[in-house]
Amino acid sequence: MQPEVENLEQFDIIIVGTGPAGIFAALELVKSQKTNIRILMLESGSELSERVKKRNLSKSDIMQGWGGAGAFSDGKLTLTADIGGYLSNYVILNKLEDYISEVEETYIHFGASKERLVTGEGKKVDEIRKTALIYGITLIPYRLLHIGTDQCFNVLLAMYEYLVSTTKVSVYFDEIAKEILIDRSQVIGVRTNKGMYKSKFVVMATGRSGAAWARNESLRIGLELENNPVDIGVRVELPAEISSQLTDLLYEFKAKYYSPTFEQECRTFCVCPKGIVTQEIVHDPETGERWITVNGHSYSNAENETKNTNFALLVSSRFTEPFDDPLAYGRSISKLANLLTKGNVIIQRLADLRRGRRSNSDRIQRSAIEPTLKEAIPGDLSFVLPYRHLCSILEMIEVLDNIIPGVNSSNTLLYGVETKYYSSKIKVSKDLETTISGLYAIGDGAGVTRSLVQASISGIIAGRAINRNLT
Ligand SMILES: Cc1cc2nc3c(=O)[nH]c(=O)nc-3n(C[C@H](O)[C@H](O)[C@H](O)COP(=O)(O)OP(=O)(O)OC[C@H]3O[C@@H](n4cnc5c(N)ncnc54)[C@H](O)[C@@H]3O)c2cc1C
Repeated sequence: MQPEVENLEQFDIIIVGTGPAGIFAALELVKSQKTNIRILMLESGSELSERVKKRNLSKSDIMQGWGGAGAFSDGKLTLTADIGGYLSNYVILNKLEDYISEVEETYIHFGASKERLVTGEGKKVDEIRKTALIYGITLIPYRLLHIGTDQCFNVLLAMYEYLVSTTKVSVYFDEIAKEILIDRSQVIGVRTNKGMYKSKFVVMATGRSGAAWARNESLRIGLELENNPVDIGVRVELPAEISSQLTDLLYEFKAKYYSPTFEQECRTFCVCPKGIVTQEIVHDPETGERWITVNGHSYSNAENETKNTNFALLVSSRFTEPFDDPLAYGRSISKLANLLTKGNVIIQRLADLRRGRRSNSDRIQRSAIEPTLKEAIPGDLSFVLPYRHLCSILEMIEVLDNIIPGVNSSNTLLYGVETKYYSSKIKVSKDLETTISGLYAIGDGAGVTRSLVQASISGIIAGRAINRNLT
């Protein structure tokens, strides 16, 4: 049945979600040749200043609101086509590299500093890469610009101020998209918790926090989905000096390894030199469900530096059939850690995990490393992580010791659970348009990206395609 949309507020384009993907789509769309274009951005979270207030009161999750997960992210722009998403399935390599440069320039234009740029090249890098290969580890060096959690805020604020100053863009906060409205295979608008809006173009850019909604809504309106893997693991914390050989050179080291027992893909992710381990409150805006996982940050300002470095160690699994809900799997494991800690995350010394005993505060205090996440509860990760994951993590830590001597020390701290559940991949064209005319699916929520840079690029691609169709 056709939804009643006759007397509703009319826009040219509606963007659902104001993370990097939605923001870059808007930045592209305001360049439209069409005069008096009206763009509506719908966001389930709050505006940036409100997010900061709530965050200081620990009342907010870090995934929702202007800037999305990007706002309080670590702000590491991974300037390579090799990692950060699946856009190489839609865009040829040369073009993807052009987009990467364009995104880098845009972040710099809005205030990102070029100070912390790492090229990922040089003789020393080649030497470490070779040593890693001897032990079966693939080390992927790449160009990286580190904005830092603190600067990210200012960059995103500048983007917001620019977009609203054009008068083409309206941003409605605390507005949760509930339904995509469709009439005969053409999108015609969006229904939210507060009202209905009409538009011939809708961009779904709901990120990881909106992944469950995007998946359910896609199934409801008949879009084709493909499962992405789910990555589950721990955050490893160690003294900064121990990994400084790698972090000074590459800032972030990406290492991939197939564990011997399960031949399971394991990788390091989101390295935070001299950073802090953080809690990540994940909130499903659709069901209101909340759960807590682990993450990490590092700051661009030396004053905020700590004595520790942390990184995620993740085990990647892909489900085929009959089970087809990797999000639910990741969520269940995270919730198990929350259950055992009464709503928190677990911390454990590597020595205790290896000896098959829990950590308690005494044992944590005996570690040479002072944990940066004070709220984590000492416990036993082996009650939470499946054997496949635990075994692969321990095997990877052991082999990593060959390129980061000391990481396999009994003092090393492990926090769990860190989960990266990439959304189901929605079937889209090269312009990231779904099989429903006028409906675009971009960013992490559409399962096509998993980083700031690629999410931003996906916004440019959709924005450019819509601009062509508008004129
Ligand atoms: C702590 C942390 C650190 C990170 N560090 C880095 C890093 O250093 N480098 C890097 O490349 N990546 C990093 N990431 C990942 C990066 O932030 C994401 O890849 C990126 O933000 C994805 O952009 P997006 O626009 O697709 O989605 P998001 O940034 O997740 O934005 C989606 C937005 O949609 C909104 N939304 C969801 N559902 C609805 C709905 N139904 N209605 C209305 N609005 C909705 C959400 O509130 C959110 O604001 C980090 C992530 C986290 C959590």
